[in-house]
Amino acid sequence: MVKNKVLFTHPYFLKLDVKQAETGLPYPPLATLYAAALVRDKGYEVSLFDPMFVSGANELLGHFGKAALLGSVPEYFVVYADGFNYLTKMCLTNMREATFDMIQIAKGRGCTVIISSSDSTDHTAGYLKAGADYIINGEAELTLVELLDSLQTGAPVAEVKGLAFLDGAAAAVKHTTPRPLMKNWDWLPMPAFDLVDMDAYRQTWLKHVGYFSLNAVSTRGCPFHCNWCAKPIYGNRYTVRPAKQVAAQLAELKRTYLFDHIWFCDDIFGLKPGWIKAFADAVEEEGLQFTFKIQSRADLIQDIEVASDLARAGCDSVWMGAESGSQKILDAMEKGTTIAQIEKATQLLKSFDIKACWFIQFGYPGETKEDINKTISLIRRWIPEDIGISVSYPLPGTAFYEKVKSSMGDKANWTDSNDLALMFSHTYPPLFYRRLHRFVHHMHRHDLAIQFKGQGWGGLRKHLSAYYYLGAALIHKWRLPQIASV
Ligand code: SF4
Repeated sequence: MVKNKVLFTHPYFLKLDVKQAETGLPYPPLATLYAAALVRDKGYEVSLFDPMFVSGANELLGHFGKAALLGSVPEYFVVYADGFNYLTKMCLTNMREATFDMIQIAKGRGCTVIISSSDSTDHTAGYLKAGADYIINGEAELTLVELLDSLQTGAPVAEVKGLAFLDGAAAAVKHTTPRPLMKNWDWLPMPAFDLVDMDAYRQTWLKHVGYFSLNAVSTRGCPFHCNWCAKPIYGNRYTVRPAKQVAAQLAELKRTYLFDHIWFCDDIFGLKPGWIKAFADAVEEEGLQFTFKIQSRADLIQDIEVASDLARAGCDSVWMGAESGSQKILDAMEKGTTIAQIEKATQLLKSFDIKACWFIQFGYPGETKEDINKTISLIRRWIPEDIGISVSYPLPGTAFYEKVKSSMGDKANWTDSNDLALMFSHTYPPLFYRRLHRFVHHMHRHDLAIQFKGQGWGGLRKHLSAYYYLGAALIHKWRLPQIASV
């Protein structure tokens, strides 16, 4: 028997995030598609309103209008964030406001509204006040299925673990017993990629970079304790799927969607000893031809075998949280890595032609001019293939947030992913970090252009671009008198 209709969506509107829209490399909402596949497996009729390419929440009206014409208005509206994508973990206010608008639209059509996201976990009362009926906290698939079943059968929702809702005449926020994290999740069905307009994703990728990348995940959670890192959904436990299963699913995905490249959006790829080797073996057995990028830590790439197995499996880039060139700052962050490890991991990856890419963070409390200069020197010495620069962002639930919250103003979240506002008092004003961001990016692009080995017109253009980047970097540096020397 087909149970009631469930309309899934997620709270990430690409067009409301200008920088990402310009970059044009969107990924389908993986966690949303995992949940939709499970709910469909349980007998519900599911559909998806994917906000990735729409202009705003108002397009949901058209979606409901079409559903009404077809006589299939959903009973449940589920806003289920892609908790694997770092963009949703940023809790951007543009997305929150659009989600509030969607809640109003869905409530106006008589839907029961259910939300699962990092932001709704942090701001449960706000979402309930905006009209949501239920907030799911933590890992959400099982909670969602139990909640839907309870609503269908009239069983008491207060017995469903992992929920928050408004209770009683006083409309106080009631939290049910927290739901324990799943011990394993390799039994979950394949994400429901058939629900997205895959051609729209493919065409956007091809237009911007000439190849098509999809997303996959082999683990959930991260056991490390960097004290600024918020992990409201999957927490500190680390569960990993068998390497053979991951390779087999990728082979199936490749046959169906013909991707060229995969982004493994695991917080930490291949932490379990021997997993990367097993994955490389499984990729070879499947005859899979693809390249992929991962996120990892410098201290996990210290052996030649690890780098060699990554290369054998098809890894073309590794993003590491290098964060800072100052050991003092790494220690203050409780990062658990050393400058020597960052250098060794970078050297090892480069020796296997894997791009070593670094996340850099400026503005951590206690960071001085000397620490900033150490970070710039490290980048210039190693010239990673790419860098992602951010400023420290206090998110609720972290030790860092507790440390700085007394000096925070009204603004507690970024508007979009390019906001980069420093939201707590620090040695330098926010404008300093914006200029620093531009200076380091331009200097890094100059260094990349100088070391470019290509010949012909392409090589000449690259080398000429070095002069442009150097000029731009020097202008930014001139505006940064606080940086004495780099
Ligand atoms: S290793 Fe990465 S995911 Fe894990 S706590 Fe540190 S920053 Fe967060």
